[in-house]
Amino acid sequence: MDTIKMLGMAVAVVAGATLPFAANAETGGKAPVFQKYTCDEKTYVPFDATTTVTLACPDPSAAKWLESHFKEWYGDAAPKVTTGPSSVVPPEDVEGYAATVDETGVNISANTLAGTRWASYTLRQLAIAKRGTFKTEGYILPKLTIEDRPHLAFRAIHLCWFPEVRPQQMERAIRLAALLKFNYAIIEPWGMYESKKHPWWHWPNPTMTQAEVRRLVAVGKDIGITLIPQINCYGHASSSRGCTIKHAMLDITPEYEPLFEPGGWNWCLSNPETQRVLRELIAEMHENFGKPSYFHLGCDEAQPQTCPECVKTPNSELVCRHITGLAEFVKSLGARPMIWHDMLLARGDPRWKDFVHCGNKETATLADTLPKDVIICDWQYSYGDMKEVRKDWPTMKYFKDKGFPVAGCPWRNYNAMKPMAEYIAKIGGFGFIETTWHHLRGKEWEKMYQSASHAAWGSLVSHGVSFQRSLRLVGNDMKVTDYLDTGFLNYQVPPAWWVDN
Ligand SMILES: [Zn+2]
Repeated sequence: MDTIKMLGMAVAVVAGATLPFAANAETGGKAPVFQKYTCDEKTYVPFDATTTVTLACPDPSAAKWLESHFKEWYGDAAPKVTTGPSSVVPPEDVEGYAATVDETGVNISANTLAGTRWASYTLRQLAIAKRGTFKTEGYILPKLTIEDRPHLAFRAIHLCWFPEVRPQQMERAIRLAALLKFNYAIIEPWGMYESKKHPWWHWPNPTMTQAEVRRLVAVGKDIGITLIPQINCYGHASSSRGCTIKHAMLDITPEYEPLFEPGGWNWCLSNPETQRVLRELIAEMHENFGKPSYFHLGCDEAQPQTCPECVKTPNSELVCRHITGLAEFVKSLGARPMIWHDMLLARGDPRWKDFVHCGNKETATLADTLPKDVIICDWQYSYGDMKEVRKDWPTMKYFKDKGFPVAGCPWRNYNAMKPMAEYIAKIGGFGFIETTWHHLRGKEWEKMYQSASHAAWGSLVSHGVSFQRSLRLVGNDMKVTDYLDTGFLNYQVPPAWWVDN
């Protein structure tokens, strides 16, 4: 779809009435408005070195940030940045922003650096190259006004660093998430994290090196997205998809077998060495990630413990002691622990018939025994056709009522995303985490990112006028030159097509 058509679509979704800007406000049956947007797509004005952008923001670092990023994005055609009072008022939200574009220039007003960033991303997505020249000599923007604020304060994307995923793809995914205004990215290493303390814990030649993590954390900090590390501390201990029966540790270094249950899917929870190793890995990764405020402990899809030592202790007691110990350790590092929810709901419990639940009566007791400050990440994927539309998620309410902060986590159930974000806001939940797993490619990548961003922001316009263009912008920022690092698929034709067999 071309840009002009997209701009036309943007105008078609202009929001309506003015409402008070209280976070997660309920409005007596009327949907709250998170964005007001008007655009005259017939009238474009210069957005180049002749343009002055006036910024009103209490954070003095915001103007410097804006100036340096305009320079990065637009080079010699960068607009001038000045500070001063603004004719527009941002919504009363820490990330809220307002902007106007007309013949007299551009006004941006934001409460924080974060709001300033989101404003600049919206303008960047809408700006196109000036017409009629051989090479770009500046940009143009349609005349517009916008007021914008997110529906949910915690908006994360969950990314899997598989051996098959190019590190450039990971960086594009992180940068694109920021451009679409997610503010957190949870990174699950899948055997690709280069631990110095426990080098046996990864596949040979891991691409998620400590230097690369430091670099990506710094990139994320600059562009407004915080990276959160994850370690699977209970099930999924193989760091590999179960359907492959690969094991990142035991297939290469079998001497670490005592740390795992027979088969290797779970960690052995009765072995004190397991707790020691996991704490050392958590500390190392937390430090490497720049000591973020959260740490994800995984804990999904575990199997019952089977080794002769583990079965001596009631499962509920063993698992609770293990997760609580790690959660307390995460807190001692100054971070908040997160876990997936599914082991806390028992199979066979009629209440969860239509919802993801992988536990048993023993593990379900964790909902009563785990510390209440552990953030429960409730992944609900509308199993079946992924097309189900529902308005409420009783599992999320269950965890909320138990006293936990709860995050709603969709995947490819695109229709459910907006209602899920609204439900999380309605019950006073913690946030929203879009999971992507092994589907971060092609149309699914586009739909996961776009739908989740729309859901978490509660509005449509400013979150990727065109996915194609947004993805290209992040590739340009990375100065990609390799064919494989362009588009949302690596190949146009499967390479095997050209092999004669
Ligand atoms: Zn065991």
